[in-house]
Amino acid sequence: MHYVIVGNSIAGVEAALTLRRRDASAQITMISSESAHPFARTAMMYVFCGQLRLEDTEFVERGTLERLRVTTLHDRVVAVEAGAHRVILERGGPITYDRLLLAVGSMARRLTLPGAYETGRVFHYVTLGDHQRLDAAAKKGMRVAVIGGGLVGVEVAEVLHARGLHTHWLVRDAWTWPVALDREEAGVVEAHVRAQGVDVRTAFDVEAIREKQGSVGLACAGDELDVDLIVGAIGVVPNTKFLAGGDVPLAEDGSILTGDDLQCPTARDVFAAGDCACVTWADGSRRPETLWYTARDQGRAAAAAMLGDAVSYRRKTWINSAKFFDIEYTTAGYVPLSEPLPRAPTPGRWQTWFQKLPDEPATLRVVVKDDRVVGFNALGRRWNTDVWLRWIQERRPLASVLAHLRESTFDEEFTPPFPLLPTATLTEGA
Ligand SMILES: Cc1cc2nc3c(=O)[nH]c(=O)nc-3n(C[C@H](O)[C@H](O)[C@H](O)COP(=O)(O)OP(=O)(O)OC[C@H]3O[C@@H](n4cnc5c(N)ncnc54)[C@H](O)[C@@H]3O)c2cc1C
Repeated sequence: MHYVIVGNSIAGVEAALTLRRRDASAQITMISSESAHPFARTAMMYVFCGQLRLEDTEFVERGTLERLRVTTLHDRVVAVEAGAHRVILERGGPITYDRLLLAVGSMARRLTLPGAYETGRVFHYVTLGDHQRLDAAAKKGMRVAVIGGGLVGVEVAEVLHARGLHTHWLVRDAWTWPVALDREEAGVVEAHVRAQGVDVRTAFDVEAIREKQGSVGLACAGDELDVDLIVGAIGVVPNTKFLAGGDVPLAEDGSILTGDDLQCPTARDVFAAGDCACVTWADGSRRPETLWYTARDQGRAAAAAMLGDAVSYRRKTWINSAKFFDIEYTTAGYVPLSEPLPRAPTPGRWQTWFQKLPDEPATLRVVVKDDRVVGFNALGRRWNTDVWLRWIQERRPLASVLAHLRESTFDEEFTPPFPLLPTATLTEGA
């Protein structure tokens, strides 16, 4: 059996490891255009800051894939002929497969403002190529506008600021990252980022980008900002242009249509996993999950399906962690979207317990549904999500969670307990 995997990031690698673990005699070929050896995209910012070399972010020890007899090709797949069971490469000859996994991830969503790219000053930060281009262009003392209030936006603002660029972080919405933070939480992040010297502008929806002599101007509601560089960080889109018009089925957003077993319904023996796969969410909607650990889980699940297991992929209870400059962010379970994003009404009695510490940028939000804790959102402290997940699974009431909160402190010996203050609020509604 010849398994071909396109993409050598987390979904592709996990699939290859799973296939080899289960099938000692399989022929496994992994093709990647971005880098010859797998690296962690999530750690790219540390390379930009000079804290790590790219080699330090490699999450598979050199030699491991060879030892496991995974053939690796550094090439680009330009077409998939699902009927003929083969992939066409940019440089090498066609490769036939018995089962194919597309784990081709995502690329930056491009700005749609007319003339933006003609300025030659617009960059992104998703792929290694993006990283290298920005790394070469960003010089100390330059002025840069980072457009996009999400996780990649804040990360890019941080690394550019650390390099000594005058950094403007432009957020279209009323506050930063509204898919994850409510107004009060975002206020904590924004105040902290401003205190580091970054110009944070919310409700700044860039309307036009104009070439100027020696710079570029961004306009928003009569306000204008002149910069040397722009980084578009407005999300990602599936990396599937090369599949358009072919026989691999794509959803409207370009993600690869899959069934619950991550197999394409109309292209036999073709599977998809990771950022490029259109999968079913807990609310029944179908779209990609663009997270490192879900890509890992999908890679494993797709490999099991390729081996013939009956697979029904569903994401486990949500967890995520990140950093806004040096503010930790941790979340687990169900935390509803906050205004101004549209929210589907969900039946049941929802309550939100919230507390902000007065002397440090730290908050904790606990979401309660029908008297059971279902989600956590926290800034500023490190929390143990394993404990939170257990509590969610045990359907603990709020009082029990608050009484035992200390047990979920990440470094209990070194971190002072999160104090429960009379300023904490319990409000009705999610
Ligand atoms: C800056 C940044 C920070 C992030 N931080 C976090 C974080 O803190 N936590 C988190 O959960 N997630 C984070 N993410 C998201 C996370 O990195 C992705 O969800 C994850 O990398 C997806 O993995 P993947 O295997 O699906 O694909 P990707 O990592 O996107 O890799 C795709 C692979 O496909 C290959 N490929 C694509 N097209 C072709 C082709 N035609 N031919 C050959 N090869 C091809 C590429 O070479 C690459 O190897 C971050 C993303 C970015 C950009």
